[in-house]
This record gives sequence, C-alpha cells and structure tokens, in this order.
Amino acid sequence: MSKEAENIDWSRALSPLFRKYGKRKHPLDYKNLYQLVVMVILSSRSTDVFVNKIAPALFKSFPSMKKMAKARPEDLFPFVHGITNFRHKSEWIVSIAREVGDDEHIPADMEGLTKLPGIGRKSANVIIGESGGKPEGVIVDLHVARVAPRLGITRSDKPDKIEENIMKRISPKYWHQAGMGMTFLGREVCRPKNPKCPECPVRNVCEYNAKLK
Ligand code: SF4
Repeated sequence: MSKEAENIDWSRALSPLFRKYGKRKHPLDYKNLYQLVVMVILSSRSTDVFVNKIAPALFKSFPSMKKMAKARPEDLFPFVHGITNFRHKSEWIVSIAREVGDDEHIPADMEGLTKLPGIGRKSANVIIGESGGKPEGVIVDLHVARVAPRLGITRSDKPDKIEENIMKRISPKYWHQAGMGMTFLGREVCRPKNPKCPECPVRNVCEYNAKLK
C-alpha cells in the first residue's frame, strides 16, 4: 500500500460507492433466510442468474429447512443438476437442514455459519449482511478481489488478506456495503478488461486510475 493510500479515510472515500449501490438488492432473488442460505451455497462457482432460474421449482418442492431435512441429497438432483458441483452442494444443503432443523434455528453469526458444511467466510458474510446481522467481515468474491487491489485499499490478491485489509481500513458499519458495493462495481464498471474508469464513482481515490493519467 502506498503512503497516499495509507492516509486515505476509506470509509469516506468509498461513500460514493455506498450511495450508488447501498440500496441495491442482492442479485440472488431469495424470499427468506432459508432460501438465502440454500441459494448462496448453490451460487458458489455458478451464476446468480442460473440459481435464480432453478430456485423456484426447488423451493416449491422443499419450502423450508424442515422439509429439506427430510430429503435425500439425490432428491435435489433433478432441480440442481446444471449447477457446478451439484452433488456435493445437495449433500451440504441436506446436512445443514438436518443439523439446523428449522428456519428459526439458522445460525446468525460467523462462528455458527462457518461450522455448517459448504459455508465459508464469504458465504457467511453474505448471509449475515443480507439478514441484517452485525457484520463480522467483508464479502470478498472474484469482483472484490479485483476491485480492491485496483483501488489501492490492499496490495494482496489473497481473499483472507484482502478481507483483513478492508476490515482494518473501513469502519465496521460499512463492511457489508463495502463488500456489496465493490461486487456491483466489479460486475458493472470495473470489469477485468477495460474498466470504465471515466464513469466510476470512486475514480478520484483509485490508484489504478491515477496511474492511467
Ligand atoms: S477507477 Fe477504474 S480501476 Fe478504479 S475502481 Fe473505478 S473502474 Fe476500477
């Protein structure tokens, strides 16, 4: 991290991002916490669009954790067979349902969520943030892992280190907004090739953009 980037008040610097994307709905079209947990697991290395497409039929047959707990993993296959790693994901979802029992007992914190199969820090951060819980970290997906080093808020390309750097440099009350904001920015503006810097709301603090000048 450069001296300049170190001296930046990142909570303030990224406020245009929070304003632009802060109220934007998560791309996964979930209706409740149970659906969110299942869809977050299914979306790993698959697209949100595809998960949104297959989810209604899945939830029609398995509308709650309680119903899901009675299923066998192979009962899910006809609904999820186009999803990457669908066999393991089906096993994880059914295991979680059996362990949790019903929707009311879905864990609400990092420790509880990451003990469940198929849920790592990234997924837990999404679930905690979207359910309005107290943030315990920052979502670092492929987009955040690209945008954050370009901005200069981290020098690392390792998700754990990127998350640690962002958590150190942004106030906890913005952690969820920061992760989601960088995700949306990465999807729409800060693309891998030819980022659209002239229309980026945080171009004034971005190291990558400064080097272009
Ligand atoms: S200014 Fe360009 S490189 Fe920097 S975050 Fe915005 S789009 Fe990405």
